Amino acid sequence: MSKENKTAKTSGLKPDDLIVITGAGGFIGGALARYFSEQGFKRIRAVDKKPVPEWYQHLPGVESLCMDVSDSANCIKACEGATEVYNLAADMGGMGFIERFRIECLRSILINTHMIEAAYRAGAQRFFFSSSACAYNTTLQEDHHSRALKESDAYPAMAERGYGWEKLVSEMFCQEYWAERGMKTSIARFHNVYGPHGTWHGGREKAPAAIARKVIEAKASGKHQIEIWGDGKQTRSFMYIDDCTFGTRAILESEIHEPINLGSSELVTINQLVDIAEEIAGVKLERKYDLNAPKGVNGRNSDNTKIKQYLGWEPSIRLKEGLAKTYEWIESEMMAVSRA
Ligand code: NAD
Repeated sequence: MSKENKTAKTSGLKPDDLIVITGAGGFIGGALARYFSEQGFKRIRAVDKKPVPEWYQHLPGVESLCMDVSDSANCIKACEGATEVYNLAADMGGMGFIERFRIECLRSILINTHMIEAAYRAGAQRFFFSSSACAYNTTLQEDHHSRALKESDAYPAMAERGYGWEKLVSEMFCQEYWAERGMKTSIARFHNVYGPHGTWHGGREKAPAAIARKVIEAKASGKHQIEIWGDGKQTRSFMYIDDCTFGTRAILESEIHEPINLGSSELVTINQLVDIAEEIAGVKLERKYDLNAPKGVNGRNSDNTKIKQYLGWEPSIRLKEGLAKTYEWIESEMMAVSRA
């Protein structure tokens, strides 16, 4: 898929068809609602359990509903009349959150079981589920130089406790709804998504936002130090939000029957992530490593062989470019908070 036809492909979806997005008060759901709105779709129903004033993005013309979709009656209301359903609601956060709150993460199974049933009963044509790289077998990620994860590496299963297992079981629901009931379901295993309008403080933020915030704080305070969780040698890849929204749509439009990676394959250590943030800020910081902090697996990357085969495309926005935009946005948010 070339850059030129990036916006052209809209499958059979008509501008007046109803698109339902859950988790739309959050980072990726909000970005997806914006993406569809900018593509000219007129009927977008955005749903989140957070009160609407607390949503990360407010989009004119988008129906915004505050509803808890772990409740089946709410899911039925949310899906009424839907042509496509994007289920992104989940109780989640970065490593600090998912290692500490495993029960909350597991309870997202209620969201996914009720949402998929409601979408099916509403006669939706397609259903999207945001799975995660945390569904992969953790024993394959013990080494800093672990090979990139391909889709078959989820089994034999040894997912991330709590959050990863919930994703794996929800994937199964999706696959069986297509196999047994004929509703087309798409499953993307997102790998570390970052960008403007994401969580950047409060305990649920992920590494790129946390590092950007810490660098901004260190620069502003003049105390040129940064605390890093773990030894900084953990490897990860990070996908910029624009690649995520585009890839989500492309996967849903395809006939891909199986869970598929949606992630960048640009592998960096956490230390290299800090290097990039320092370069953006124009500072050099003394690094303090907290070896007792949650740090997740040692090595994780996305093997993009399959997505390239299916779509002729893979996420390609470089970390340096995406982090610069994210840094700028977080800095402006921090300035707005300090002025308030
Ligand atoms: P987010 O926390 O910013 O957004 C999730 C939203 O879901 C929140 O606004 C939250 O209020 C809402 N929500 C939670 N429980 C709900 C409920 N019961 N009813 C209605 N709304 C509810 O997270 P995100 O980063 O935008 O993630 C979106 C999806 O992508 C999630 O399913 C997540 O597991 C998945 N994912 C994200 C990443 C990432 O790096 N951000 C990586 C892998 C997978």
